[in-house]
Amino acid sequence: MLKRASKLNVVRIGSDITYSSLKKIGDGILASFRGLINEINLSHHASPVVESVDAQLLTMILDEEYSGHTLGITDADLKTQDEDEFYNSILGGKNPRNDVAVVSTKKLLPLKMSSSKHYELFIDRTLKVSLHEVGHNFGLTDHASYRQTRDGSLCPMSRGEFNKFGYRGYIKIIIDGRGLNFCDECVDFLSKVYGFRRRYKKLLKDALESSPN
Ligand SMILES: [Zn+2]
Ligand SMILES: [Zn+2]
Repeated sequence: MLKRASKLNVVRIGSDITYSSLKKIGDGILASFRGLINEINLSHHASPVVESVDAQLLTMILDEEYSGHTLGITDADLKTQDEDEFYNSILGGKNPRNDVAVVSTKKLLPLKMSSSKHYELFIDRTLKVSLHEVGHNFGLTDHASYRQTRDGSLCPMSRGEFNKFGYRGYIKIIIDGRGLNFCDECVDFLSKVYGFRRRYKKLLKDALESSPN
């Protein structure tokens, strides 16, 4: 079980996202994990500009520097030791040996970045991948199938297959299809382990009531 779960460090590495957007992502995480996370500390980790970084190494560096429950958001490509070329670059990952998860924004950039709408989509994607990785920090596991939540969007833990869609398709179908609320199964797990059931049920209810359709 995650220790000191209620406080999350959100660390920006690189400069693809503005500080105010980082705050927006932090606020989004706070809203989706309301009752579980109640404090977000934003920081910027100065590092040389690199094309790619080893995902596990990055989690270890962040663990040493920030310690505790941490999410790193980098604009470098995250590499893994996977021999399969398709999987050796990832959108996000979590180190099971510490409480650090990392997200790469590199593949989340829309093809065009000419309007504020594109930038908003980019931040929205970063938030959704962040929710997934923070979910792993709390012990949630991937849904191989597309699990819908009560608001009709996919649970943030939905994974699907890269191979089936290719990267661009995967991001459009799986990442953009994810919502901000977790499915009943995930909520039940979080309530069993961390005991925040009522607040989660209320969150789902609020989301339904505020949905326009
Ligand atoms: Zn996952
Ligand atoms: Zn779920």
